[in-house]
Amino acid sequence: MTVDPYQKLRERMVAHQIEARGVKDQRVLGAMRKIPRHFFLPEEYIEEAYSDEPVPIGLEQTISQPYIVAVMTELLALSPKHRVLEVGTGSGYQTAILAELAGEVYSLEIVAELGKRAADLLTSLGYKNVWIKIADGYNGWAEMAPFDAIIVTACAEELPPPLLGQLKNGGRLVAPLGTEREQYLYLFIRTEEGVVKKRGVPVRFVPLTRQ
Ligand code: SAH
Repeated sequence: MTVDPYQKLRERMVAHQIEARGVKDQRVLGAMRKIPRHFFLPEEYIEEAYSDEPVPIGLEQTISQPYIVAVMTELLALSPKHRVLEVGTGSGYQTAILAELAGEVYSLEIVAELGKRAADLLTSLGYKNVWIKIADGYNGWAEMAPFDAIIVTACAEELPPPLLGQLKNGGRLVAPLGTEREQYLYLFIRTEEGVVKKRGVPVRFVPLTRQ
């Protein structure tokens, strides 16, 4: 049996950075113990893969801090029946976590090189329930809507209106909102009566850009 030398680092990451700060969803914790986060970083940053911060992935983008990936995923309350939309594929790490917990994952990335790299990596890791498209995620993915859950991993001042339109009734959407200086995570839940919006922890994401 081959032993992954990074397994210990992942166990420690989950215990110290994630569980210790209150994330309880065992499926989320399990996915984060399983997925080799170091595969998603460029060679020169591999040693940073399990550190408690966002890390550059090239082309001015970053892979999100492990704790923030866990918090956002927990807020989505995913089940294996769910179809999920992700805006901002980036490294594909969050995409892999979603693919472990949901039935189908549709992910949009505006930078072609990143989207292609992530798609190749996820294919090589064996994921068959992920579809990545190079496009401006502002408009969502109308052909594949509606979604049970939507996650946005780049920050806008206001939520792009098309996204809530692609969320099912009872569906959950998580997104960072704010300016470059001050951002918070928000959870939107779509109900029969309308949309409920709740503010969460302060965060720091790269901006949502437009084509
Ligand atoms: N979840 C990713 C986060 C990547 S950073 C990870 O953990 O690796 C955010 C990503 O959003 C970047 O790759 C950036 O290129 C992408 N992005 C920014 N604006 C976008 C838009 N309008 N549509 C789709 N992707 C966008």
